[in-house]
Amino acid sequence: MEKILNYVNGEFVEPSSGKYIDNYDPAEGKVYSLIPDSDGRDVAAATDGAKLAFKGWSSLAVEKRSAILTHLADLIDRDIEKLSMAESQDSGKPLSLAKSLDIPRAASNIRFYATAAVHFASEAHITDTEAINYTTRSPVGVAGCISPWNLPLYLFTWKIAPALAAGCTVVAKPSELTPMTAYLFSRLCKEAGLPKGVLNVLHGLGPKVGQAIIEHPEITAISFTGGTVTGKKIAATAAPMLKKISLELGGKNPNIVFADCDLELALQTSISSSFTNQGEICLCGSRIFVERSLYDHFVKEFVKRTKALTIGDPLEATTRIGSLVSEAHMKKVLSYIELAKQEGGKLLTGGTRVEVKGRCAGGYFVEPTVVVGLDHLCRTNQEEIFGPVVTIMPFDEEAEVVEYANSTTYGLSATLWTENLKKAHRISAQLKSGIVWVNCWLLRDLRTPFGGMKQSGIGREGGWEAMRFFTETKNVCIKL
Ligand code: NDP
Repeated sequence: MEKILNYVNGEFVEPSSGKYIDNYDPAEGKVYSLIPDSDGRDVAAATDGAKLAFKGWSSLAVEKRSAILTHLADLIDRDIEKLSMAESQDSGKPLSLAKSLDIPRAASNIRFYATAAVHFASEAHITDTEAINYTTRSPVGVAGCISPWNLPLYLFTWKIAPALAAGCTVVAKPSELTPMTAYLFSRLCKEAGLPKGVLNVLHGLGPKVGQAIIEHPEITAISFTGGTVTGKKIAATAAPMLKKISLELGGKNPNIVFADCDLELALQTSISSSFTNQGEICLCGSRIFVERSLYDHFVKEFVKRTKALTIGDPLEATTRIGSLVSEAHMKKVLSYIELAKQEGGKLLTGGTRVEVKGRCAGGYFVEPTVVVGLDHLCRTNQEEIFGPVVTIMPFDEEAEVVEYANSTTYGLSATLWTENLKKAHRISAQLKSGIVWVNCWLLRDLRTPFGGMKQSGIGREGGWEAMRFFTETKNVCIKL
């Protein structure tokens, strides 16, 4: 059985514990590889390597840094078939999605920040005739990057690309549920000529090796994407050490559909924003609010299209819904469907585990599920399910739907459907979300700030925001 290895100081090494954890193919419900069970000793070794590498990497000419990162992006493109297959097998997502979204975006992340390294500039301020100020931005040192399982290589590279581009060295940990593409990526780093110690990748359990990364005194900035509960733990550890933190956390995103929308586009896109990647995307719109005059028609069409989604073997080209990432996660999603029923919700389609025939007979598949008849304040509509489950609710007034949309503790993203531009501006301004998509969903420009309000996080990723996060600012004031 294949053993994944840690990547420490340019070498592929076993964990200090000598122990391994089972890695599952969730579509089959079977163990197919082994993951290092790393701990604080591995973090110490990786951080020593990263510290040693820092001087060379941070002082390397930016063109050279950029060239290595560009080469790395080219290698991801070259290996797209292999990486897509690995991503699908590790996470249960359709191979077609891994190939069209996850892996191309991982290459884009690296390429985008390879160019950002060259274009990153700082300001100068002239203080009348008295003084001139200039601002420098230096890499923070060793950064810790921790990513989740839903978009494994996509989110892993989204953090380490700006860190490396800014001149930091990195100790990174992918989710223990989906380690394979981060491992294959570490092999590509070696091939691309990334100097040893610049990126270190450790595998294992969050509360063990992840926590040790957060606690290590020489890791001065932490970029984390994951659940809100974990984010709070990380903040509690990092705050007394006064570390810089960037937290991208959970969401419970509203999808608001006005009667004056382009209905066909709203329906098509809402199916995607509800069920892409089995609903396991932090940006999925799991609460759909529809203006009452359109409600019955929308619900009927939405349910019809949901029923038509093909669930099955992620490797089949026709599959739209693959398996959930793990048995534990499937049980969590099913328990929320039970909760929805207890709270008085009516299931219009879905609601159960799906038995897929053949190779995937033991896999963790759940039908896409549509629930109506719930109040916006019930637990089903307040807590993140992170699966293929949406609720649909009617509304009458603008002010009412804004209140519904803003009623959760989360504030990551929102989607709005209307052909009325003034209304779009008016509602967007009132939504307490870090991102608002009007008449679209998941349309990304990597230069824009990305992140959430309230319990969806602290700070923003994307564009210069991430480059600034991984750098320390200094102002020099010279009297004229
Ligand atoms: P978790 O919070 O469980 O885990 C995220 C990462 O943190 C994993 O690598 C995990 O390791 C690690 N981890 C767990 N405990 C600790 C700890 N004490 N110290 C350090 N690291 C730790 O999230 P999931 O992986 O379950 O991901 C799903 C969540 O991520 C959802 O809530 C989703 O909304 C959110 N998310 C947010 C996004 C955003 O941009 N805002 C984007 C994508 C997802 P291990 O896997 O081994 O437990």
